[in-house]
Amino acid sequence: MTPPQGKAANPATPLSKSREETPNPKEMTIESRNQPSPGICKQCQGSHYVLVNVDSFVHAELCSCFNCSKCQGRGHIFLEDEKGISSMAECECARLVRRLKKLGEAGIPGKFTGARFETYQPMDASQKLALRIARDFVEDHGSNVQGLLFMGRPGLGKTHLAVSVIKELILNKGEDCKFIDFFQLLSDIRNGYSQDLSEQAIINPYVAAPVLVIDELAKGRNTEWELTMLDQIISSRYNAADKITLLTTNYTDDSAIRKSGKKETHVEFGSSSGRKAQTGEETLQDKVGERIYSRLVEMCRLVKLKGEDYRMVMEDKAAAPPRPAKKTNRTG
Ligand SMILES: [Zn+2]
Ligand SMILES: [Zn+2]
Repeated sequence: MTPPQGKAANPATPLSKSREETPNPKEMTIESRNQPSPGICKQCQGSHYVLVNVDSFVHAELCSCFNCSKCQGRGHIFLEDEKGISSMAECECARLVRRLKKLGEAGIPGKFTGARFETYQPMDASQKLALRIARDFVEDHGSNVQGLLFMGRPGLGKTHLAVSVIKELILNKGEDCKFIDFFQLLSDIRNGYSQDLSEQAIINPYVAAPVLVIDELAKGRNTEWELTMLDQIISSRYNAADKITLLTTNYTDDSAIRKSGKKETHVEFGSSSGRKAQTGEETLQDKVGERIYSRLVEMCRLVKLKGEDYRMVMEDKAAAPPRPAKKTNRTG
């Protein structure tokens, strides 16, 4: 295919900052590829890459429209200095290829293939604010705060936002990012034991990742063993100020309790009693204990999402008389 209007010859174009403000999506899911966009590639909308769900993980690949006119696909170019001495240099397109590889290795679940800031549809003020905080975080590149902790009930798009952040960090800044579901991590550690792998061997890649998303923090029973594992990861990342950590949790903090003037009690490490006894509702502190919680709060900006379960709202709409509905890939 002929590169339209010379745009395809410059792979840096879709990675530029201005792209974020335009509705032109930077990645296309298979299901949204057929939307007409005259003048530019229908598959990638001019970004030169597509994201696809392969074996339940997000995978990124160059679009078939892409054909680098600078290096003809070799990935390197020859430069000549004023003395006529030539040297080999990496072509711009090689950077894009490298970032797409990173995206494919981040471990983002396939159901978030279409998740990005542009496909997040805030349903109330708290969600609008969450979107802005997440976008600002990418712009600041974590220079003001070491991470974000998305809190709120299921179905408000917490994971959607966390995934959008790391996609931007990988594609625009070339960061190394990892995504892990907390439950999956615990399961991996348990499986590791049966293969004579130490917990360190499983945990270390996540501890070492420059940017880490821990999804569904505090989900499950939170036994002492589970919290010890979590503590290892959080403590390491807390102590490494240059690392960015994003977390999502269905639990909230106790600010509502504090506002109501109830006396603050400290929860023992691993205890699930504490405030639950006072309010009937478990907080994140109850689930993870004060030690982990206080580190999370120090490390992260808390982003509290409120509102109805987005998926439930969509189901209600589906039951109502038909209206033209906006397509969305939002989950989590
Ligand atoms: Zn294309
Ligand atoms: Zn090239």
